[in-house]
Amino acid sequence: MTAQKLQAVRGMNDVLPQDSGAWQRVETALREVARAYGYREIRTPLVERAELFTQSIGGATDIVEKEMYVFGAADERLALRPEATASTVRACNQHGLLHNRQQRLWYLGAMFRRERPQKGRYRQFHQFGVEAFGWPGPDIDAEVIRLGARVWERLQIGGLRLQLNTLGSPQTRRAYREALREYFSGQRAHLDADSVRRLESNPLRILDSKVDATVEIAAGAPDITGFLDADARAHFDGLCDSLRRFGLKFEINPRLVRGLDYYTGAVFEWLADDGLGAQNAVCAGGRYDQLVEQRGGRPTPAVGFAMGVERLVELAERAAPETPAPTDIYVLSADDDGGEAADISESLRRAGFAVTTHCGGGQLKRQMKRADQSGARLAVIAGLEGAGTARIKPLRSGGEQVRLGVDALVDWCRDHISA
Ligand code: ATP
Ligand code: MG
Repeated sequence: MTAQKLQAVRGMNDVLPQDSGAWQRVETALREVARAYGYREIRTPLVERAELFTQSIGGATDIVEKEMYVFGAADERLALRPEATASTVRACNQHGLLHNRQQRLWYLGAMFRRERPQKGRYRQFHQFGVEAFGWPGPDIDAEVIRLGARVWERLQIGGLRLQLNTLGSPQTRRAYREALREYFSGQRAHLDADSVRRLESNPLRILDSKVDATVEIAAGAPDITGFLDADARAHFDGLCDSLRRFGLKFEINPRLVRGLDYYTGAVFEWLADDGLGAQNAVCAGGRYDQLVEQRGGRPTPAVGFAMGVERLVELAERAAPETPAPTDIYVLSADDDGGEAADISESLRRAGFAVTTHCGGGQLKRQMKRADQSGARLAVIAGLEGAGTARIKPLRSGGEQVRLGVDALVDWCRDHISA
């Protein structure tokens, strides 16, 4: 009887060796851009108390209503994190990171949401995010958006559209919520079930619906512009001015509300026009000036975004495909125990080369075939001439074999590989 092959859980993906190079390139770009803007990394656990998310993200949201993986005993419900802003705020409060100081932070890691898996939408996915705590003005919002734009530049991704809106003050949101409730109540019969429920709990969320019929109705809803107070307008105008100064194009979308409850003030989203299908949002964020205090910290203004790394890798690959970096040198072993090959390989690695050592012995001719297949630029044959000497053969330029001692070998490789 053959053993049954188990499959990965639906919506949770392997990143295979042929794809991990593309991931690493994107991750490196993200780390470097974050560093270039003075942001420091924070790593929080994959598991938190479920209430952290239900209280931060809000009850009437897709995430909390149906997407969280919750488990554990009734008196301590735990959740796989569906996002990392709530965790970051929790960590800042717990460790006093915001006491009399500002923080620029970033994170990169796996998030979990029980959604319907489809291209660009998974149950385990990855987000890169930044969070800036302690600045009330629009300059930091502009910085955070600029940082995102820098990521697109670094990865040569073009054609993303930046949409902005502001949700104003809590009073604004309250008044706007009432106006939406009134509008959508009139259309009740045509709304999807989730939206009908949200009429009461939080009608703003209806604007975020992905159900076609509801999207159509939402297009006619009043927009928030008329409800904004002077402060919110000034902040938003300041942000728009900064972005213009950066030369960043944007569109104001007065119906952009974002799916989470903790947002206040400016919100934004970067959208890809094509290729990602309906899953076209690559990065989303905004201000959440009340969350730190709501979670038990001191009042601290805050702004941040989260970027979907799967969608980012896809866009980066399309813009400029990653060419896999093969090993530099393949070391063959002419002696039986492979000891000489292992020694020479170590010398080459110490000199900074990526080296694959042939293991398992066998005829030199077969080993050379492996060396060719490996994509390495040079083959080194150890153990043929006695200790400390090897032969070297360029694999891709068709040059002659050379015989060299170990020190000379390192220099020779340097000359031929950097060339
Ligand atoms: P959407 O409207 O696509 O459901 P969202 O509003 O739920 O997005 P956020 O919580 O703001 O998304 O997450 C920020 C980014 O993370 C998204 O713009 C997207 O790129 C990515 N993202 C969110 N959910 C998923 C998922 N299930 N699979 C892959 N990427 C995701
Ligand atoms: Mg979602």
